[in-house]
Amino acid sequence: MSQPIGRLWDEVVVVPDFPEPGISFKDLSGILANPETLSITVQAWIEAIGPERPTMIVGIEARGFPLGAALAYELGCGFVALRKGGKLPRDVHRAEYALEYGTAVLEMHTDALGSEDRVVIVDDVLATGGTLGAGVDLVQRTGAQVLSAAVILDLPALNGRAEMAHRGVPVHVLISDTA
Ligand code: AMP
Repeated sequence: MSQPIGRLWDEVVVVPDFPEPGISFKDLSGILANPETLSITVQAWIEAIGPERPTMIVGIEARGFPLGAALAYELGCGFVALRKGGKLPRDVHRAEYALEYGTAVLEMHTDALGSEDRVVIVDDVLATGGTLGAGVDLVQRTGAQVLSAAVILDLPALNGRAEMAHRGVPVHVLISDTA
């Protein structure tokens, strides 16, 4: 890789007390907005995930959509969206889960994946692992195999990797906030 992964930190904006007091929100929009850091991100995932030979990339709303679709295009995979509750028009699998702040619902069309699919799930940030864990549940309900998950930023203090290890799913992490 021509650019160091650490370059991604230049585009991380920390927003204190968002969306509620006590939460230190890591806004990664700038990584997508900057062509150099977007390229570093997707290239790093191509190297890590390509050898796993996925057939589908599953992206979690919202930043998992552009990141996952870029990766899917590069790897020659299809892309499936996991959406927040009430957005998908046909039959869905639904998972409710706890967040670092509050609870949330994720849904996926029941016919989006099949037992032949080998899946990697993509999101921007791993905090408690509730979101990725719900994604794993939804994918596995279709009979598809979850190979791994990929995020840009891990917040190790919230133990999301342990939650995913418990489910037997490795996580590809580009940068970790050890502060
Ligand atoms: P979790 O389910 O706790 O692992 O939270 C991960 C999801 O919530 C991701 O989709 C993130 O976009 C979002 N999220 C949770 N905590 C943060 C945070 N401190 N900064 C930015 N995004 C967060």
